[in-house]
Amino acid sequence: MTALKAIIEAEIAAQGPMLLSRYMELCLSHPEHGYYMQQQPFGVEGDFTTAPEISQMFGELIGLWLVHMWQESGAPDRFVLLELGPGRGTLMADILRVAKLAPAFLEAAQVYLLETSTRLQAVQRAALGDVRHIERLEDLPEGPVFAVANEFFDALPIRQFVKNDFGWQERLVVAGLTWRLSNTVQRPDLDKSFAGLETGRIVEVAEAGHAVANALTTRLATQGGAALVIDYGDYDGTGDTFQAVQKHKKVGVFSAPGAADLTAHVRFKDLVQNGVAHGFSTQGDFLTRLGIEARKQTLEAAGAKGLSAELARLTGSEEMGDLFKVLALVPEGYVEIAGFENGA
Ligand code: SAH
Repeated sequence: MTALKAIIEAEIAAQGPMLLSRYMELCLSHPEHGYYMQQQPFGVEGDFTTAPEISQMFGELIGLWLVHMWQESGAPDRFVLLELGPGRGTLMADILRVAKLAPAFLEAAQVYLLETSTRLQAVQRAALGDVRHIERLEDLPEGPVFAVANEFFDALPIRQFVKNDFGWQERLVVAGLTWRLSNTVQRPDLDKSFAGLETGRIVEVAEAGHAVANALTTRLATQGGAALVIDYGDYDGTGDTFQAVQKHKKVGVFSAPGAADLTAHVRFKDLVQNGVAHGFSTQGDFLTRLGIEARKQTLEAAGAKGLSAELARLTGSEEMGDLFKVLALVPEGYVEIAGFENGA
């Protein structure tokens, strides 16, 4: 038994059935044995590969989008450039490199990283130099926020509920690490969010993600800025998407607590709060509209190799292009958001 498994079993023995969100939180973020505290998640050697680790083109186009949105917002001379869950710091490094094209943007930017893993904070400091880390959005200084989150929201804890004819039953984790359904409870909020859902279907509720989105959209609505959220999922998906991945393969969700990455699909609709406007697209269409093809040709002219394969992985419909979605969040009143159907 792994150390973390023993800790989880002991907590269940002492306190009874465990919320799935608690299980996920312990597996991912336990200060000593949590996945992000001790594993090397990213890249060929790790458990999964993310878009910024596949190609520099990804971060460069996002960097250009952020610069564009900053200009559209009147180029404020002081703002927060924020990344949520920066992993190895690769995306922010690509953003900061391409932003050299707009020195006034870099001059005005105060870079902040939202990261709870002290191990990854050190990795990010090594990659990016002098950056500021926060663990809560409430700790950001005042001012407009231009933000990006890639594969961040999928890592936040969820709860699962099954609809029955009388209400909802929650899926709980019990001794031996297996599922048990709770008694039926009344959840008018779920009745509303998932109106018309058929009986027997599972839904997922990402309370921690909703709280982060609430803080982020409150900032955007009151102090300006723009945010991009890139992740797998759908605008208003339902069903069981909770999964564990180890060494690029799916494994059982209870098979390796702390040693496998746990994620769930993002329900993007839930992130659009506080009256902000939004754009929504597949990753493939978004990167294509932002000109990934032209960026590839520029890099190839400068001697870069292997970019066709990288472009195909990021935009191909059988690869990341359709599964991954991009949500832009902007203050109310925006007419065009670059990279989206109604945008430039
Ligand atoms: N964006 C990176 C890494 C994605 S992995 C990339 O695309 O490669 C998820 C990241 O979110 C990790 O850096 C992880 O430590 C961080 N993270 C997970 N839960 C978090 C939480 N509750 N608060 C802040 N960061 C968190």
